[in-house]
Amino acid sequence: MGGKSGIVIVVVAPSGTGKTTLINRLKAEFPQIKESISYTTRYKRSGEVSGEQYFFISKEEFENKIRNDDFLEWAIVHENYYGTSKQFLFDQIQNGNFVLCDIDVQGADNVKKYFKDQAQVIFISPPSLEVLRQRLEGRKTESQDIIEIRLRNAKKEIQRKDDYDYLVVNDDLDQAFYKLKEVIHKIIGDKN
Ligand code: ADP
Ligand code: 5GP
Repeated sequence: MGGKSGIVIVVVAPSGTGKTTLINRLKAEFPQIKESISYTTRYKRSGEVSGEQYFFISKEEFENKIRNDDFLEWAIVHENYYGTSKQFLFDQIQNGNFVLCDIDVQGADNVKKYFKDQAQVIFISPPSLEVLRQRLEGRKTESQDIIEIRLRNAKKEIQRKDDYDYLVVNDDLDQAFYKLKEVIHKIIGDKN
């Protein structure tokens, strides 16, 4: 695609690490960063609103979008479909914006393959699997079965932690946020 000039900031983390918590803080601190809202077939958690955290759609609607080539990338994560809108990302990048994608490792690999250095991937790691289990159980948004699926996937995802542009460990929340802000300043500064 010609004339593209923005930056895609991809944040990856095993489920329960604290990625949403950190991203919410980032959004407040960096209003110039636009968030890509993914499409998903997973159930809506209490308090979630379609068009805010995700566009919640049916499996049939998602499969139609795959056929229409609407996604820059899509993946099955924890047994549900998730996908990134191609149109949104292209529009933002062509306008020179910073776009934040909260996606899994498969999505990060595909975005990186497409955008190369124009995509910067930050891996957020939990301090340990034990702490991750505590956070997932403490959040109380998933059943024990789903928590076990997410923990099994986390073991595989954590093996990828050194494969990306930046690594931030979310042990103490304030310290992790400070480190994340440093990384974002570096990415944004590198561009300006
Ligand atoms: P994710 O988006 O990565 O799945 P969340 O942001 O929903 O994770 O966080 C999972 C749970 O862990 C939430 O209950 C959140 O309040 C809590 N949490 C996040 N970061 C920390 C931290 N550094 N220390 C303790 N608890 C945390
Ligand atoms: P959750 O169901 O907890 O919101 O998200 C589960 C996982 O799916 C997280 O790792 C999240 O980053 C990932 N995810 C969310 N949207 C997308 C997407 O559009 N593409 C991909 N590949 N993963 C996504």
